[in-house]
Amino acid sequence: MLEFKAAVTKSKGAPFELQKIKLKSLKDNEVLVKIKAAGMCHTDMVARDQDYEVPLPVVLGHEGSGVVEQVGKSVKGIEVGDHVVLSFASCGQCKSCLKAEPVYCYNFYPMNFGGSDENGFTSLSDQEDKDIHDHFFGQSSFAEYAIATERNTVVVPKDVPLEILGPLGCGIQTGAGAIMNGLKIENGSSVAIFGAGAVGLAAVMAAKIMGASQIIAVDIVDSRLELAKELGATDVINSKSADVVETIMKITESGADYSLEATGRPEILRWAIDSLAIRGTCGFVGAPALGVEASFDVNGVMVPGKTIKGIIEGESIPQIFIPQLVEHYRAGRFPFDKLIKFYHFEQINEAAKDSEKGITVKPIIQIS
Ligand code: NAD
Repeated sequence: MLEFKAAVTKSKGAPFELQKIKLKSLKDNEVLVKIKAAGMCHTDMVARDQDYEVPLPVVLGHEGSGVVEQVGKSVKGIEVGDHVVLSFASCGQCKSCLKAEPVYCYNFYPMNFGGSDENGFTSLSDQEDKDIHDHFFGQSSFAEYAIATERNTVVVPKDVPLEILGPLGCGIQTGAGAIMNGLKIENGSSVAIFGAGAVGLAAVMAAKIMGASQIIAVDIVDSRLELAKELGATDVINSKSADVVETIMKITESGADYSLEATGRPEILRWAIDSLAIRGTCGFVGAPALGVEASFDVNGVMVPGKTIKGIIEGESIPQIFIPQLVEHYRAGRFPFDKLIKFYHFEQINEAAKDSEKGITVKPIIQIS
């Protein structure tokens, strides 16, 4: 049994509380990771606020990076001492997983938001031995230790700073993968990216790598738009002071070939669809509360043959895509470290506030 510090979410919208918790046991298919750092993503807040229901009390955190401390008997390809990034969980047995599309795993919601393993077992408990929910995105990494499996543990090179790599497991791979895997944008195409948070800015960098000739970033925070320009946006629009669709039509002449919605707001999804060219494709990754609906002009989509496409986790196969992003970073093409601000574990609530106020793009909590 192991005792360690974790940030526990006890009730809807409550601040994270640091407390000592206990690990009951490690199963044969599991990997114990000593967490170095964990990125904070908007989806942690979505779960904290129960816009996506997660059983409470729970340890959130789903962009963990760390060092492998122990491996279960049946785990292959991962060794004690490996540097790893933790990503989303998938079952490996459903139709999607068998087709190498783990992001569309039929068991995605229970495995990532269910708060326990597939048998309802939680590995964590408090000092009074009461269960604490875990397995959030197959990791629950706002803690000194996290339990993952072979399927969501990605070994990364040891010569890249481990403390920056966690966000590659979710937010960064979501934005970059939406462009590279989900939309597969072509060299010379135009793309409008709505939302210049961590996801949107990762998409901007990816669009530059893919050779987009026009990369238009839309947000309401000027500092984020400035950063978007630095990272490769050719044009930026502050939607508080411009008619977004009209401006995109002017910049592109006939509409964007691709658009990506990364704010989580349904009215902006409408703009992302309306600003497309004939035969354009809109991808959306922004996640509003469960049940939120969006509208579009049926003929405005049908007649010009537009496509609207939901995308999860950048349609990434983490063991393939995350090392590719690390190589882009090493080569200087993907400077995602420019989005990062570090916080001590005790400052986790400050990190959440700074992210929500738009002060910090990608907070990373330094855990050990
Ligand atoms: P974020 O909060 O850092 O970024 C959202 C951005 O949208 C901010 O920069 C904000 O200023 C901007 N915004 C808000 N209102 C706006 C408006 N009216 N006009 C223009 N811009 C506006 O969040 P993030 O971490 O970048 O995540 C983006 C979204 O993606 C969230 O909804 C998150 O939950 C979701 N997400 C989805 C997946 C997936 O697999 N689909 C994975 C990770 C994150």
